[in-house]
Amino acid sequence: MVERQVRDRGITDVRVLAAMATVPRERFVDVDLADAAYADRPLPIEEGQTISQPFIVAAMAAYLEIEPADRILEVGTGSGYGAAVLSRVGGHVDTIERHARLAETAARRLADLGYANVDVHVGDGSRGLPERAPFDVICVTAAGADVPVALLDQLADAGRLVMPVGGRGGQRLVLIRRQGDDLVETDLDPVAFVPLVPDRES
Ligand code: SAH
Repeated sequence: MVERQVRDRGITDVRVLAAMATVPRERFVDVDLADAAYADRPLPIEEGQTISQPFIVAAMAAYLEIEPADRILEVGTGSGYGAAVLSRVGGHVDTIERHARLAETAARRLADLGYANVDVHVGDGSRGLPERAPFDVICVTAAGADVPVALLDQLADAGRLVMPVGGRGGQRLVLIRRQGDDLVETDLDPVAFVPLVPDRES
């Protein structure tokens, strides 16, 4: 999977490639789908959500230029797979999921597999996680019309954020880098993610 789907498509970050090679993707999907775990596509998980295609997980991690001590926020825990990969590349991962059941399953899997530097939170990730901010890296794995301001506010100086931005007409990954008070935005690949659903009470 790592050679054909990731490295041969241009991902060169050796720490991302190593992380992708060590995280057992089959442990993050339903047992019925274990045979498809290494296929070149997203797979369904509970609550009508998806675990991203391996290449997309790697591409997002590579765009984020993660350093070993980085504090990372992931929005959209889903299966927990992306958090596991990020935890092998950075220093600590806080990941937030709006579906309590998905969060519980992911937390149990991550604990069983020994990923001790990941904390799973239940809540609306479009508000970020102010009590743990600022973050060097923010990885949003659900699509919205815009990047939520709360997430930009929680990005450390020199921090990087990636998020799929757009609607039904099409989404693109967007990379934002904070340089002091400035935010520098770069448009990247077209993608297809499930929607970021903000908490209606907000
Ligand atoms: N990173 C995941 C992919 C998850 S798909 C993985 O590796 O499996 C996106 C996830 O974002 C879904 O589980 C969805 O429930 C969650 N999500 C959508 N809106 C959210 C919000 N406002 N806050 C937190 N999680 C959200």
